[in-house]
Amino acid sequence: MRTVYVNGEYLPEHEAKISIFDRGFLMSDGVYEVTTVLDGKLISFDGHAGRLLRSLRELDMSPPCDMDELLGIHRELVRLNEIENGLIYLQVTRGSDGDRDFVFPDPEATKPTLVMFTQSKPNLANNPAAGKGIKVISIDDIRWGRRDIKTVQLLYPSMGKMMAKAAGCDDAWLVEDGKVTEGTSNNAYIVKNGRIITRELSNDILHGITRAAVLRYAREAQMEVEERSFSIDEAKQADEAFVTSASTFVMPVVEIDGTPLGDGTPGPVAKRLREIYLEESLKTAI
Ligand code: PMP
Repeated sequence: MRTVYVNGEYLPEHEAKISIFDRGFLMSDGVYEVTTVLDGKLISFDGHAGRLLRSLRELDMSPPCDMDELLGIHRELVRLNEIENGLIYLQVTRGSDGDRDFVFPDPEATKPTLVMFTQSKPNLANNPAAGKGIKVISIDDIRWGRRDIKTVQLLYPSMGKMMAKAAGCDDAWLVEDGKVTEGTSNNAYIVKNGRIITRELSNDILHGITRAAVLRYAREAQMEVEERSFSIDEAKQADEAFVTSASTFVMPVVEIDGTPLGDGTPGPVAKRLREIYLEESLKTAI
């Protein structure tokens, strides 16, 4: 049984409770982060803490604690749950003032809710899907306009994964105005003639922590990187494609809307970036 964290307490998971009036539950009024644990250490903690503070600021929410304390809670959960490889999920909501109202409660009187739990994933780094690559479908991106804020409004991404599953695929790429924004829970890339192409940062996509690291490592390895949007047609004609996220690292994409990319197996750029990412992020894990 897991030990989870709720507002200052470490509790067995079935004893952890939050109010039914919590705005995270009633209004999706909350933000989250997912940090990976490899060999018992946290990957890119500073990046996740920085993005959390930015998400909170954009929604006029105050941080539930300082970031050193947050690091301490992450480490304590890793220790208590004996996590060697896995994920730490963190959610901050605007809390509850004991009733339902669209208007934000007084921030002086209502404290944010902080919930954290672990998910053990022993095979995180040797995920068999990485050897085969994943198949994606494209669907309309009908999400709201502030995808740079990591909110807990995950209904449409969930529906996108269900649509992919119904089509016999693994995930969906979201398309707006003819261009791919990102995957349901990852950033999207294509590779053409050795050049890595991924959408530029804006309010249209989440600023992936893995994206930032992978692009840095790619540039350090003298690979060409172009930050611009691309269409599904361009992607189908690419040599290879991949997605990145904290939990999947660099995951090759081998098929888009039924069209295989290249020879339909993971491409060399995605494979190399996955290796570099795993090696480099372990070096800086804390
Ligand atoms: N885009 C979306 C929509 C996501 O949900 C995620 C993962 N939460 C990402 C991109 C990747 O972000 P990160 O590399 O920080 O996990």
